[in-house]
Amino acid sequence: MNTLSLDRNPEINEININLAQLRINYNIVRNLLNPNTHLMAVVKGDACGHGMLRIAKELEECRCDAFGVTHLSEAILLRTEGITLPVHLLAPCLPSQVKFLIEYNIIPMADNLKIIQLLDQFANENRSCATIHIKVNTGLNRYGIAPAHAVEFISEIKTNYPNLNVEGIYTHFQDPDKNPELTFRQIDCFKHVLQSLEEKNLRPLLAHAASSSAITRYPEAHFDMVRCGMLLYGLEHEEGERIIPPGIKPLVTVKALILKIRTIKEGEAGGYGTEFIPTKDTTVAIIGIGYGDGVGRGWRQAIISGRRVPIVNYFMDGLMADITEIQDSVKEYDEAVIIGSQGNENISILEVSKQFNRYAEEQLQSITERVPRKYIP
Ligand SMILES: *Cc1c(COP(=O)(O)O)cnc(C)c1O
Repeated sequence: MNTLSLDRNPEINEININLAQLRINYNIVRNLLNPNTHLMAVVKGDACGHGMLRIAKELEECRCDAFGVTHLSEAILLRTEGITLPVHLLAPCLPSQVKFLIEYNIIPMADNLKIIQLLDQFANENRSCATIHIKVNTGLNRYGIAPAHAVEFISEIKTNYPNLNVEGIYTHFQDPDKNPELTFRQIDCFKHVLQSLEEKNLRPLLAHAASSSAITRYPEAHFDMVRCGMLLYGLEHEEGERIIPPGIKPLVTVKALILKIRTIKEGEAGGYGTEFIPTKDTTVAIIGIGYGDGVGRGWRQAIISGRRVPIVNYFMDGLMADITEIQDSVKEYDEAVIIGSQGNENISILEVSKQFNRYAEEQLQSITERVPRKYIP
């Protein structure tokens, strides 16, 4: 978890996170939904590297309906930092973690009776009632009970575990971006489960299935709640893949200051080893971000003075950029942008993540805690 620093002074490097854009993204997503549909903001993985707490607080003010995370530690942190909305643990919890779910009022994903039995027991000892959401596996084959067992599973809980409230039931899509055929089959399968539960008067209050890509692509999969992460952060896996609604944009700019400008003579070394030995006199800038910040080898370009320049060597705390062509317009302590816009140039997260063969959120998460997150209101 990165240090929560709300307003910091300029640093050698920083990630700027545009909260106004987060609110815009939130409102656009909200307007894709029926007024009664709940919006769970998924803030797992440190809100995809944006800083979970600050993002959650902003989304709470935007009036989202719930939060989703995947580690118990994330859920507990939301609670200890004062989040009062429902917090869902969307991934399995361990038997040894169950007592914390009760203590911190966290809603688990339930797909096995061992956890259910423990939850009921702790809830009973605590003289409380534990809310759970049941997961159904419709094709991802990760977590969840078999669709055919849903009726039996929920009636078993209702009969034998009186301290549990089965508030929700959900599923997760396998490839909603690229496999509509399977997605429609998963939607149908989930609808059948809901119908069979309705017939027995067992249908939980909140049925949900859609994460970001299904929110835009399959309105029929919105049900009673959607679980939204990526779209809120303006991220997509591949350009155009998610048909991102107009107006939704990334929140993040990653930048660092130029710490040194120097000219390297033809044939001399530019940094360690033989990585960069210029064949003509070359002016370089050392930008204050490096592999110690998660920005290392393979990073190709930066924007300086509104122009793209090539990165030619890498340090733990710096990147060496060739600025020969723009040297007259650059001075020490100028800002270099490595993700985001400066002047008319833009390096998108998508462009960078493609170079590394990563997902956009994976790329952002790889930037280390050392880079302060600075939130722009
Ligand atoms: C991560 C996750 C989500 C959110 O997915 P996005 O693509 O970020 O919107 C929703 N549901 C589950 C179960 C998840 O694990």
